[in-house]
Amino acid sequence: MLKSKDKIFTNIYGFKSNDFSSSFKRGDWDNTKKILFLGHDKIIEKVKASGLRGRGGAGFPTGLKWSFMPKIVQERPHYLVVNADESEPGTCKDRDIIRNEPHKLLEGCLIAGFAMRAHVCYIYIRGEFFNESQILQNAIDEAYENKMIGKNSAKSGWQFDIFLHRGAGAYICGEETALLESLEGKKGQPRLKPPFPAGVGLYGCPTTVNNVESIAVIPTILKRGENWFSKLGNDNNTGTKLFCISGHVNTPCNVEEEMGISLRDLIDIHAGGVVGGWDNLLAVIPGGSSTPLIPKNICDNILMDFDNLKSVGTGLGTAGVIVMNKSTDLLEAITRLSYFYKHESCGQCTPCREGTGWMWRIMRKISSGSASSKDINNLLDLTKQIEGHTICALGDAAAWPIQGLFKHFRSEIEEKLNKNKIAAE
Ligand code: SF4
Repeated sequence: MLKSKDKIFTNIYGFKSNDFSSSFKRGDWDNTKKILFLGHDKIIEKVKASGLRGRGGAGFPTGLKWSFMPKIVQERPHYLVVNADESEPGTCKDRDIIRNEPHKLLEGCLIAGFAMRAHVCYIYIRGEFFNESQILQNAIDEAYENKMIGKNSAKSGWQFDIFLHRGAGAYICGEETALLESLEGKKGQPRLKPPFPAGVGLYGCPTTVNNVESIAVIPTILKRGENWFSKLGNDNNTGTKLFCISGHVNTPCNVEEEMGISLRDLIDIHAGGVVGGWDNLLAVIPGGSSTPLIPKNICDNILMDFDNLKSVGTGLGTAGVIVMNKSTDLLEAITRLSYFYKHESCGQCTPCREGTGWMWRIMRKISSGSASSKDINNLLDLTKQIEGHTICALGDAAAWPIQGLFKHFRSEIEEKLNKNKIAAE
């Protein structure tokens, strides 16, 4: 269990004020100049050495991503873009960082922007986060008033501006290139990659897009040292992580824990246990709605980090842990998620545009009890035609929950369908 001295987010529950002076007392903006004076490349080296992997879902090493930005600024300016379009069902960690620890995020923006030689940062916030956008704008204003950002940020001599941009509520704008399109004032549709944003990003300029949590942990990593961070967690899965625990638990919550904590400890210690007890557990979606569910027998011993979850065919994703006990109709639950992905498809590529609706219709047929094994085979075949054949990961995100369901629960579902068939005869 993570010791309180190792927690990065000391005000994540908002028990104290989120204003500049309270945040300063908690250590935010403390000697930021000293960090900037390490120099661009040294900061990137330290972030690489910390082992931090992106907290937005993909788990790509953050320092490595930063190192893809050009080392020399030529005629095209560099941009840092922070992805605050948190929309993955089951996930609400960035929302709480913005509500209660906005200055950690802003200090992280300055350091990350400086490391990548960017003078401008855009924070793209989900449109529905109206109150949070006001809190964040207040914090940006305070940071300017206290001269932490602006012409001479934190007395470092580096000019740095932060602009807040509200989205209009499309899930797909959380995909980094759709986000950039939307920020440019266009329809939020993902771009083909390559070129990657580090080469051709916002307004055609070198850009790095990072998740809120990835940026907000940077100041503490650099203040406490990359070795401190890298010693927490497991090999290749270092540091701490905000987990969002929801569903059939007694006390749903967001909690910062060490990477690699066991799922059982996470639920029992922090979320008051499964409703009806651990033996009443049916399945868990471990990393936000797009990650395949895992049944109880895997949940018994699984560790919550990128590599351990990958080894059992799922993922840490955004660490949005959705707990389902035996009262859950898994078919109905996954059918609802299929509807969500159908609704959020941007319609740009055929396998996703047509396939998400097709998968949802077959899922509806199966959950209504009028399907056969042949429908399940067709459905699984369809998921394979979508997975890996689309411009962005939304196609995969729509296919994986269905694949996870039938991988672990196919025999139970077929048994139910057979019973319905006999009853109808
Ligand atoms: Fe749009 Fe879906 Fe294609 Fe992504 S996979 S670009 S959401 S149609």
